[in-house]
Amino acid sequence: MSEAWSGNGPVIAASALHKRFVERSGAARLDVHVLRGIDVAVAAGETLAVVGASGSGKSTLLHLLGGLEAPTSGSVLLCGRDFTTLDAAEQAAGRGEVPVGAVVVVDGAVLAVAHNERETGNDPTAHAEVVALRRAAATLGSWRLTGADLFVTMEPCPMCAGAMVNARIRRVYYGCHDPKAGAVRSLYQLLDDRRLNHRVDVVPGVLGTESAALLKAFFERLRRRD
Ligand SMILES: [Zn+2]
Repeated sequence: MSEAWSGNGPVIAASALHKRFVERSGAARLDVHVLRGIDVAVAAGETLAVVGASGSGKSTLLHLLGGLEAPTSGSVLLCGRDFTTLDAAEQAAGRGEVPVGAVVVVDGAVLAVAHNERETGNDPTAHAEVVALRRAAATLGSWRLTGADLFVTMEPCPMCAGAMVNARIRRVYYGCHDPKAGAVRSLYQLLDDRRLNHRVDVVPGVLGTESAALLKAFFERLRRRD
């Protein structure tokens, strides 16, 4: 690290790192799972040693931690900064969309990554979560996403929370709260409502500060343009 990390927590914090390589030779397809759910935490001033037999994934792990390759699933935080959902949100901001990103993970594999596409698609339903759920369902060939986890940078609205209940997802991890439209904690608690036929586990506040900072910077830029 070139700069000293003054924040709380480890310099490198990786969780549930999974890397799958798909090899094709002719019609045959071979899935090689090199890492399955590796956790790493390195505090400031500590040294990381990676030890293992040949082919156990040492180089792959270092590539993932250094940002040279993206993990198939899991997260890598360098000095508290994430590579996965926040990247999707940043892409949305670059296209003039409100920066919200979402990722759907099933059985340790990233099935869909999406950002808000409301402006580009002229589509009021194209929130990041709905786009990600549609892509994940198309990939799986089923609307039923039982066992899927959805990561999103902002608290879902009533439409998106409803879509998650309908898709039967297992858990949602979200970043910042949305006091104006949040339907998971802020205004409604749709995902815990026992009157509906499915409940979704909720983990709020995942990289909430970073997600809120992206949104704040975006709206400040918009106001300066007006
Ligand atoms: Zn929404």
